[in-house]
Amino acid sequence: MSQRLRPVAPIWVAGRPQHGEEEFFVTHPYDESPVGATSWATAGQVEAAVAAAAGAAAECAALPAHVRAEALEHVRRRLDEESETCAELITAESGKPIAWARVEVRRAVSTFRWAAEEARRFGGEVQRLDTDPTADGRMALVRRFPRGPVLGITPFNFPLNLVAHKVGPAIAAGCPIIVKPAPATPLSALHLGALFSETDLPAAMLSVLPVPNHRAELLVDDPRLAVVSFTGSSRVGRQLLRRVPEKHVTLELGGNGAALVTADYPKRDWAAERIAMFGNYQAGQSCIAVQRVFIEAPAYADVAGRIVEHVKALPTGDPNDPACKVGPLIDAEAAARVEAWIEEAVDEGAKVLCGGGPRVGALVEPTVLANVRPDAKVLRDEVFGPVLVLASVEDYAEGLAAVNDSRFGLQAGVFTESLPQAMLAHRTLDVGGVVIGDVPAFRADQMPYGGVKASGTGREGVRSAMEDYTVERVLVLPDT
Ligand code: NAD
Repeated sequence: MSQRLRPVAPIWVAGRPQHGEEEFFVTHPYDESPVGATSWATAGQVEAAVAAAAGAAAECAALPAHVRAEALEHVRRRLDEESETCAELITAESGKPIAWARVEVRRAVSTFRWAAEEARRFGGEVQRLDTDPTADGRMALVRRFPRGPVLGITPFNFPLNLVAHKVGPAIAAGCPIIVKPAPATPLSALHLGALFSETDLPAAMLSVLPVPNHRAELLVDDPRLAVVSFTGSSRVGRQLLRRVPEKHVTLELGGNGAALVTADYPKRDWAAERIAMFGNYQAGQSCIAVQRVFIEAPAYADVAGRIVEHVKALPTGDPNDPACKVGPLIDAEAAARVEAWIEEAVDEGAKVLCGGGPRVGALVEPTVLANVRPDAKVLRDEVFGPVLVLASVEDYAEGLAAVNDSRFGLQAGVFTESLPQAMLAHRTLDVGGVVIGDVPAFRADQMPYGGVKASGTGREGVRSAMEDYTVERVLVLPDT
């Protein structure tokens, strides 16, 4: 299939469009056709962006809230106006089905809307100190101040909205930011650079720099960049944390999301449909995709059967087709890894309930497995592919323990209508978020979002990220 080849996208160095040292093509994961091109930032351009961000930090911190909010509003409006073009760009560079790409654009619009609102709202608090006799006659003004320039490193699977989740809060908080997008999907991030260049913000406030990973490490190490906000794999995130233990680092990492279905949950078909869809949406390439499914024994056969029927019905294939729900993985290498993990599980005795056929290029057939050994990669690791692993649990307590039996802890979904069970899940599950009556893949862009254990530290969601990019400073005042 022929794809539209876009003009070579400029990189953004301190708000100015430039060309780097070597052009490279961005290819469509579905058919490997070139869909666009950009260039790698040179060492000189990286230095210029960092020096400009450091030099502009005080000016950015002092920007009035209305200037920051209006710039964010402008970008929100422009994304909204261009939503179809942006969705096509996401599909072209990531292979995400166009239906999901449209959802991603809508979410990015909402992320910038929240960022504009929080820019206006984010203030501080007044604390009374006279709760203790030694502090009689005093009060405290607690304000948050920007930490300084932020480095945002983003993955391929949400090439627009995860960049919005770094840039929106940074600008709302008054921090300059340098974005290093994923090499496979730089075009959406570069397009955001173009939209911000239309605003009244200081040019140095935003750079978007495609750089190879070894050069990104130098950015991580650079003492002029105060915060590293990383979204990506647990392996790389941990490596970066070891490099700069003294820096403020936030890590949004991987997961092997679990859903728990209780026996008396009345809407079994809804649960099955959601699990089927959100184990496979974006070909499973979401950090909160459902991967592990625990079903209370009395409901197991019925719910498992329904999940399989819903998975078989998922429209799969060409992501440009508006009906498609499951497209390719990011490349054939990723698909080969997922295929090998399925084969390994099957060799060790797993039962294939559906799927499991040979991959075609980067397309992996949505696959449901049962009887999987506890140490199989498809269960213990992050599969990041269209694979669901089903297991039966005796009761609710065993189900909660099964969800927690993971080195990851991002989000979990619990299908129950019992309030005590919901509260118990909230108290017990070692994750960043518990979703009642839906899958772990549920995310609203304003809510605190992040993980524990190998899934990371720190929180995104606009306000939470702003708290990460700023630091509290107390002013103790006489109150007499
Ligand atoms: P990745 O870790 O391979 O890459 C992420 C980013 O880090 C890319 O921009 C990459 O170029 C960069 N990078 C890689 N090595 C680096 C190095 N040594 N120094 C500096 N930068 C380096 O991840 P990916 O394959 O792009 O994305 C998939 C992963 O992201 C999955 O594990 C997924 O769960 C995770 N993810 C997490 C969240 C979340 O919010 N928790 C959201 C989306 C994706």
